[in-house]
Amino acid sequence: MSRWRCMSCQAIYHDTLPDGSRYAHTCSPEVVEHATFDPGGKQLTPERRYARPIIRNENWAADSTEENPRIISEGKGRIVDLETP
Ligand SMILES: [Zn+2]
Repeated sequence: MSRWRCMSCQAIYHDTLPDGSRYAHTCSPEVVEHATFDPGGKQLTPERRYARPIIRNENWAADSTEENPRIISEGKGRIVDLETP
């Protein structure tokens, strides 16, 4: 079991569930940047929501086969996560 970091949305996840089955990460389709406030409560920046431009979707593509497995979308890829405890 490996721990991965999605380079599209920065999610950290394992690709194997506790029961041994495969976990297929899919990015949230929406990016939410929360509003920021100063210590007095004055809003500095507004909340922003927008469609994630590049989504990783690890579910099997319709034409995926056991001999030639293919996910729906690579997005920006993923890397092994070594930093998160
Ligand atoms: Zn993601």
